[in-house]
Amino acid sequence: MEKYDVIIVGAGTAGLTAAIYALRAGKTVAVFEKNTYGGQIVNTPDIENYPGLKHVSGFEFATALYEQATELGAKVLFEEVTRIEDNGDIKAVTTSGGSYEATSVILATGAKNRPLGIDREEELIGKGISYCATCDGMFFRNKVVAVNGGGNTALEDATFLANFCSKVYVIHRRDEFRGDVSEVNKLKEKDNVEFVLNCTVTELIGDEKLSGVKVLDKITGEEKTLEVEGLFIAIGQMPENSLFANVVNLDDKGYIIADESCTTKTAGVYVAGDCRTKTLRQLTTAASDGAIAASLC
Ligand code: NAP
Repeated sequence: MEKYDVIIVGAGTAGLTAAIYALRAGKTVAVFEKNTYGGQIVNTPDIENYPGLKHVSGFEFATALYEQATELGAKVLFEEVTRIEDNGDIKAVTTSGGSYEATSVILATGAKNRPLGIDREEELIGKGISYCATCDGMFFRNKVVAVNGGGNTALEDATFLANFCSKVYVIHRRDEFRGDVSEVNKLKEKDNVEFVLNCTVTELIGDEKLSGVKVLDKITGEEKTLEVEGLFIAIGQMPENSLFANVVNLDDKGYIIADESCTTKTAGVYVAGDCRTKTLRQLTTAASDGAIAASLC
């Protein structure tokens, strides 16, 4: 059985930062990732708020982080972790590819996109419905699209799409945005962006592919149809930690309960990044958690 000093679950910003810190402290490190490296940030077109980097795409940032960790010696295994057992000084980690052991485990599982939860959403994924403007935006060049959400992801996605789509509707359920004012102001300057506020998406229209969305104005009760070929859903994330409920406590939304110390109820099991309870989920706070968790291993 392969044994490491530190096993990290998740190769996003928190996990890879933890790997860098643990490796530089002389530990052996395996990072398990069930999808691709980088986490959510790979879908961000332009990062402008990471200290020291004025502009960088999410993909470039994640790739640099991945290379930094692997060049230092991190073993990144693309396997899904399905169970962690606390055997005192040793943690047994089961994955889709095998069984491993570690002295310490850092959970850096991030979060996944939250679906809207309306009829035909799943059926139309790839046929007009997308959760990633950076990945799929180019398919909608010169077309009319909508972005649903009011956080930084939705605002940044809309800015990105407005550069090459003929029109971008920004549908948000309130008239105030959760995302940064600077991002809202950028959008207000675009001639091809229209805000559809206090509205929720109630229906997806189109047979083989999306041709429009119905939105309901929560204030007036009016329903209208927006003719769009793409709907980019950016309404936040959901954590995925239920598999680890035997070694950590989860809150009612599924986040791992922990404070800035990044410790959990199990000695030797730490948590870092968006998957834990916290007030600010940002690259900077994910990186900070990764460094703290690794320093405890
Ligand atoms: P978020 O900040 O949680 O925002 C989610 C948005 O979706 C909110 O505006 C919310 O509306 C709306 N929403 C949630 N559920 C909905 C539903 N069922 N129907 C309609 N609307 C719904 O999520 P995010 O934008 O993905 O950002 C996640 C975190 O990453 C944030 O901390 C964000 O700042 C960070 N982020 C940072 C950067 C960057 O620094 N460059 C880029 C992207 C994201 P309400 O506002 O009404 O609740």
